[in-house]
Amino acid sequence: MQVHQILKTKSAGVVTVPPTMTVAEVSALMSSRRIGAVVVSADGKAALGILSERDIVRELGNHGDGCLIAKVSDIMTPNPVGCTRSDTADQLMEVMTNRRFRHLPVIEDGVLVGMISIGDVVKARLSELAMEKEALTGMIMGN
Ligand code: AMP
Repeated sequence: MQVHQILKTKSAGVVTVPPTMTVAEVSALMSSRRIGAVVVSADGKAALGILSERDIVRELGNHGDGCLIAKVSDIMTPNPVGCTRSDTADQLMEVMTNRRFRHLPVIEDGVLVGMISIGDVVKARLSELAMEKEALTGMIMGN
């Protein structure tokens, strides 16, 4: 399954935040939208960075709640690794496993067009495996 097919199954678009937003504000946003990461962008198109719940937990653990008034740009990971609409779920799984992160912004011609989480990839693979199983069962049973 390719990224463009996975994107069609997702209802919500990608959530972006400006680099000037505070860590407290982005935490509230991620909590209310029930998401684990946001793309940091000044114009909603170019991905300047990515901020995941892990970054917030790391800062809280290292510096305490004083980090809540810091800006997103202070704690984000700059220049995030992205994927394209034509990449496959298998390729994404490999990148996520090797790089040890769970989110990949989808970038097309330098413009952010979506976000794929590890949950989306697992769901896509499970659905592929179910289809493969059905096809193989059909072949064995002669259907
Ligand atoms: P995650 O597992 O996605 O919650 O992220 C773990 C760490 O990797 C955090 O420091 C993130 O900022 C960083 N990270 C997440 N996704 C990406 C990405 N696509 N490119 C670069 N860094 C990332």
